[in-house]
Amino acid sequence: MRILIVEDDEALARGLVASLRLGGFAVDHEAGAAGVLPLLRGEAYALVVLDLGLPDGSGLAVLREIRREGHTVPVMILTARASIDDRVAGLDLGADDYLTKPFDPAELEARVRALVLRGRGQPDPVVACGDLALDRAGRVATLAGRALPLRKRELAILESLITRAGRAVSKERLVSEVFGLDEEISPNAIEVYVARLRRQLGPAGPRIVTMRGLGYLMEPNTPEEGR
Ligand code: CA
Repeated sequence: MRILIVEDDEALARGLVASLRLGGFAVDHEAGAAGVLPLLRGEAYALVVLDLGLPDGSGLAVLREIRREGHTVPVMILTARASIDDRVAGLDLGADDYLTKPFDPAELEARVRALVLRGRGQPDPVVACGDLALDRAGRVATLAGRALPLRKRELAILESLITRAGRAVSKERLVSEVFGLDEEISPNAIEVYVARLRRQLGPAGPRIVTMRGLGYLMEPNTPEEGR
């Protein structure tokens, strides 16, 4: 899932990008107000983390524009200002959560996950397909109760597929949900990750079916008839 961080403090932004990427998100960073709407028009974000004090405008004004254009993406406001007035103004303009600097990175990540899941209408962090279960809060996948040793990109692809089990997910969508705009991707990266995932799932786990021209589809492994 893809997150946009709008923050002009470079050190803080770098830290946020690094920690959310480690958490398995695709993350883009924007340092000013002006670039936010063009990005929202072009990419499907699961969340915007928005600093209020930006060099070229106020985050509140950006938030107003985001809602005025009809974007329903969840927005978490990040600010050094702790005043109740700002907090109320942000929530009035359609912010979904509010975090005051300085904050604990672990708290930010927990809130980000909660907002992302709520935004997708899937507040339960655990999603399953047959014997395979993914705990999206704890970032653990289990197959018949046994934890799978998956790396973060494999987990991100698994998450994209399992949350849409039974439906084809295009390669473009997987790339967009797994990689940030500034990350290098080899042309066959998705194939490589899918192949590794299939090896981890083994013959007993759910199948990842290649749909020519459409992408990939995850389906539960149904026992063969007549056995
Ligand atoms: Ca700032």
